[in-house]
Amino acid sequence: MTTLAFSGNPLVRPSAEHHAPEWFESQRALPDARFLPLHRLEAPVLDGATPHLAWWDAGVLEHAVDRADVVLLGTLGGIPHLAVAVTEPPPTTPEGTEFRDARRLASILPDTEAGILAQARSMIDWHTRHRFCAVCGQPTLAIEGGARRRCTACDARHYPRVDPSVIVLVEFEGRALLARRASGTAGNRRSCVAGFVEPGESIEEAVIREVREEVGADVEAVEYRASQPWPFPSTLMIGCRARARSAEVRADGVEIDSAEWFDRDEVAAALEGRSATLEVPQAIAIAHHLMREWVEDRR
Ligand SMILES: [Zn+2]
Repeated sequence: MTTLAFSGNPLVRPSAEHHAPEWFESQRALPDARFLPLHRLEAPVLDGATPHLAWWDAGVLEHAVDRADVVLLGTLGGIPHLAVAVTEPPPTTPEGTEFRDARRLASILPDTEAGILAQARSMIDWHTRHRFCAVCGQPTLAIEGGARRRCTACDARHYPRVDPSVIVLVEFEGRALLARRASGTAGNRRSCVAGFVEPGESIEEAVIREVREEVGADVEAVEYRASQPWPFPSTLMIGCRARARSAEVRADGVEIDSAEWFDRDEVAAALEGRSATLEVPQAIAIAHHLMREWVEDRR
């Protein structure tokens, strides 16, 4: 499978176990440190023939929502790369820099930069939502270069969350099961069945449960295919394939209003955007790649 959007991060992540608190401080103070400011979780991009993330020097910290919440994402060639939430878009230098949503940026940035953006967006969002301790309700502070938070009252440590979610291409006798969300605006848009893994559940159990709940099918032979960070806010998409025991399906009518079987030619046409009856997710989504891999896997 090709590199999935958001999964090509080249930064060497700092290891809290190997660095003293002073090391994190010193990285932030290095003159060549690069800062990525996020404004309402939107990131700055410098448009051009090849769009790139726009980085600032430490001067951007003047606009920080909280200067204590600077996140050291990692280093590249020894140069520290950091992210910070800002109260307003800082002065745009050079000209042509715009703040945009990560979904829009994923399809235009190089893989490596989309990967950095995924980490930055998830981390900044997590800091914004975890200012108070889940144990005692008192304020928390960022520690270890923003990799964790610590409660100022009870000393509890809080770790950034990653939420595993399964997404599965279900097949039966040469056809794939695609479902339409009951959102009212889905039209011809259909995708693989997906849902969050619940506490105390394996990936395989989550796949079997989600497929049964959403489309009323029984599946077996669950196989892992690929994974993708999805920073909205911090999901890990776990892409699988599974085989249905029969063609019998029944949409739940709540999350899914229709579930139907499509053959390889129909899915191939949709992937290329030349189907009048079926629309599938764009190439930044892992669902697109699960479908493409299945289409190309003509046994
Ligand atoms: Zn506490």
